[in-house]
Amino acid sequence: MGYQFIKGRCDSFTRSDGVTISLLPKPYCERCADPIRPSISTGLCYNCYNGNTQVDLANLSKVYAASVYVSHSIGHILSGEIKKCKHDLSYTGGLAEVLEHATTVMYPELNSYDALTFPPRGSKTEKENHLEGIVNNLSARIEIEVMDILSKLTDYSSQWKRSRENRIENVKDQIGCSEYVTDRRIIVVDDVFTTGATLLNSAKALRKMGAREVVGLVLGRAADTEHLLKYAEVIEKVED
Ligand SMILES: [Zn+2]
Repeated sequence: MGYQFIKGRCDSFTRSDGVTISLLPKPYCERCADPIRPSISTGLCYNCYNGNTQVDLANLSKVYAASVYVSHSIGHILSGEIKKCKHDLSYTGGLAEVLEHATTVMYPELNSYDALTFPPRGSKTEKENHLEGIVNNLSARIEIEVMDILSKLTDYSSQWKRSRENRIENVKDQIGCSEYVTDRRIIVVDDVFTTGATLLNSAKALRKMGAREVVGLVLGRAADTEHLLKYAEVIEKVED
């Protein structure tokens, strides 16, 4: 049994390579971009409403997402590309174009920010970083400079495949910022938002070094499968 993505439920845009990308289903939480039930009047998801969120407002003001990230679904092209890009940098240009669409069409307010940055990735010795490739490509498209200033304070291991609690603990206060960013408004770009722990700790480091405001921008907002099935109604069960 698997899940099929229902394209008709979301807005989409066609990339310059002809691929149609499904965008974030509406409505979504105005703080963490998690798709929510249309009947919810607060504009917030359950977690944000109850304060159980990494989007703490003091450090990380808000998270913007181009789409959802659905790990085991058929037909969600962007999720597949996000996964493949970790090992194949030829996907960086296409993914950067999706973020360009997010910053120019979906969330034009992002154009007024001063700089882009990205969370530290992989081990300290890792040479190629797919996220850095995506952010540099995006920077050239939207003319906002990249600051490569975040690093791991310890060599914590990947957030990939960890549980929610484990992710939050794994990265807590483990990210540092190497430069003063006094009074700057900064966008931290990541591929997937799961708990938001990486973005929150990146934001904390930037705020400590003087950033006036920090927001997150991700390709895919990882959402609970049951949630996408029952409330957002953007996937349906299919037999393999
Ligand atoms: Zn939320």
